[in-house]
Amino acid sequence: MQYREDKKCGNKLSVLGLGCMRFPGGIGRIDKEKTEALLLKAYKHGINYYDTAYLYPGSEEVVGEIFAKHSLREKVYIATKLPQALCSSNSDFDKYFNIQKKRLHTGYIDYYLMHNFTDYAQWEKLCGLGIEKWITEKKNSGEIKQIGFSFHGPYSEFIKLLDNYNWDFVQIQFNYINTNYQAGTEGLLYAANKGLPIFIMEPLLGGKLANLPPSANEVFQKVQPGSTGASWGLRFIWDFPGVTLLLSGMGTEAQLEENVKLAETSMPNSLTEVERQAIQEVKAVFNKNYKVPCTGCNYCMPCPKKINIPACFEAYNASYAVGLMSGIQQYMTTIGGTSNFAHYASDCIECGKCESHCPQHIEIRKQLKAVKKRLQFPGTKALLSLARKVMAKRM
Ligand code: SF4
Ligand code: SF4
Repeated sequence: MQYREDKKCGNKLSVLGLGCMRFPGGIGRIDKEKTEALLLKAYKHGINYYDTAYLYPGSEEVVGEIFAKHSLREKVYIATKLPQALCSSNSDFDKYFNIQKKRLHTGYIDYYLMHNFTDYAQWEKLCGLGIEKWITEKKNSGEIKQIGFSFHGPYSEFIKLLDNYNWDFVQIQFNYINTNYQAGTEGLLYAANKGLPIFIMEPLLGGKLANLPPSANEVFQKVQPGSTGASWGLRFIWDFPGVTLLLSGMGTEAQLEENVKLAETSMPNSLTEVERQAIQEVKAVFNKNYKVPCTGCNYCMPCPKKINIPACFEAYNASYAVGLMSGIQQYMTTIGGTSNFAHYASDCIECGKCESHCPQHIEIRKQLKAVKKRLQFPGTKALLSLARKVMAKRM
C-alpha cells in the first residue's frame, strides 16, 4: 500500500480509504458477515482510513462493532461526520457526538467532519451556536484529533470556508468529469496551497466512471488494452500530488483487490500526455451520453410518494448511454412496474423536499418530468395494470 503524509499532524494515511456508506447488502440492509470479511481484508491490505457518518444507516454501528471485536480500533483512523444540518442548539453537538462514540465503540474520533457543507452560511449558523468553542474543547480533551468538513457547494463558498477557519483537512467531490464543478481543480489547488490534507470523495462519480458507455471505453482500450474504467478514474486522482487519499466504497472483495493493486502503483505526476489526452476524450463522450449527474448517494430519499429517485435517473441515463429500449426496461423494473406497488416518476407531487438534500444540485422535479417524457408513455400505467391482472389470473 502507498501512504501519503497528513502534513498537519504527521499521520501516514493509505492513499486508498474505505468509504463506508455502501456496504455489502446495500444502504440500510448491511450484510454484517460480508462486511466483516471486507473490513478485515481492507485492513490486511494496509488500508488504515475508514470514513463513515451519523447519517449512513447502520454504518457507524457495524464499523464500531467489527473493529472492537478484532481489537483494531487503535490501529486504524476513523472518520465520521456531524449531521450539522440537524443541529439547532449547542447541546446537539454533544448529543450526536456521544451517540457516535458509543456506536463506534471509541472514546475519540481521528477525523471529524462537518457533514455536507454547501455554503458558508451553514458554518456561520454553527458558529452562532458555539461550534468553535465546542471544537476547541473536544480537541483539548483529545476526543477529536483533526477537524474538517465535507463539501458539495460552489467554488466561491469553498474558498470562504477555507479562509475563515483553521481547518485540519477538507473532503471534496472530485473526478475527471467534475474538474470545474463544486470545489473543482481550482479549489483542490487552493486547499493544497494552504497546506491542507485533501481527501477525495466520488472519485468514480457513484460508479459511473467504472461502467463507461461503450464509446467512451473504446478510447481507453486503444491506449491501454484490458484496462478498466475504474483504473483510469482512480489514477487520475492519485496523479495530483496535493491529494492525500481518495475514498472508495468497495462493495465486493474483487473491487477491493483491484483498487488495492492500483493504489500500490499509482504515483503522483505519473500520467503520460497520451493518457491525459485520452481522459479528455472520454470526458467529452461521457458528457454527451449522460444527462443527469446523479451519483446514487440516496440523500434525497425517502420521497413521500415513494419514488426511487436515483433509480429513475439511472434508467434515464442508461436510455442515452446504452439505448432507449434498455433504459425503458430498466425503468419498468426499478420502479416496480410489474408489481402492485409501482411508483412512477409521474407520481411526483413537486413538494420539493428532495432537492435541498441533493449534493449535485439536481433539479429533481424538472428532471423527473424529463424521465416521464422519455421512459413513460400515455397509457403505460393502465397497460401495466392490465398485465398484472392477466398474470394474476394465470397463476
Ligand atoms: S418533489 Fe417529487 S420526487 Fe421530490 S420528494 Fe417531492 S414527490 Fe418526491
Ligand atoms: S438525485 Fe441527488 S441526492 Fe438523489 S441520489 Fe441522485 S445525487 Fe444523490
